[in-house]
Amino acid sequence: MSRERYSRQIALPGFGEKAQEQLMDSAVGILGVGGLGSPAAYYLAAAGVGHLILADYQRPDVTNLNRQILHWVEDIDQRSKPASAAWKLKRFNPEITIEVREEEVSSCNIGKVFEGVDVILDCLDSFAPRFILNEHSLSEGVPFVHAAVEGLHGQITDIEPGLTPCLRCLVPDMPPKKESFPILGAAAGVFGSLQAAEAVKLITGAGEPLLSKLLVGDLQYNSWETIDISRSRHCPACGRKK
Ligand SMILES: [Zn+2]
Repeated sequence: MSRERYSRQIALPGFGEKAQEQLMDSAVGILGVGGLGSPAAYYLAAAGVGHLILADYQRPDVTNLNRQILHWVEDIDQRSKPASAAWKLKRFNPEITIEVREEEVSSCNIGKVFEGVDVILDCLDSFAPRFILNEHSLSEGVPFVHAAVEGLHGQITDIEPGLTPCLRCLVPDMPPKKESFPILGAAAGVFGSLQAAEAVKLITGAGEPLLSKLLVGDLQYNSWETIDISRSRHCPACGRKK
């Protein structure tokens, strides 16, 4: 590990060399390498997370470029989003390993896609794969950082199975899928960056992660609120496990 590279975060109160080693020994799965996944993966690579697994089955298109900052004009329709992101991240930080998973996650393959990871980031834009991730998290005991963004607003929370509400305590029924919705790149950048920070906090124990707390933010009106949330007895996913 190049200490110098990480010296400015090692100097953080409550962080130190131990936290840096924890990051280097950790594996983070990123589900969706788009508007949230780009800044999240970039900052986790910057922080020196030793192992990143990037999962997405899509290729970049021109309408992605206002927010999906790991994809460039030369990547459009040329390679998958994970391959496009991995090419840049490997050059940005050659000290870490990056694995590419170019497949759509299903309840059958998600265990294989994210085998051995310490935490998963939900960088998705629809709820069907989020529900698959939630089931995987509950059955395998893997924490994940949920975020969702639309327009200029978004939300984020950390889901630790058995400890916090699961995603379906918050969203019991599948919302209708939106094919395309407006979004400002900077809004995705804010929430993707928050996801990277939450992953660092969960791995190292530094700071206070958003456990049983939902942070909602709106850049249009500069309003931010942290809401206490609790498990639902009627949750279709974790209610029976109470
Ligand atoms: Zn639940």
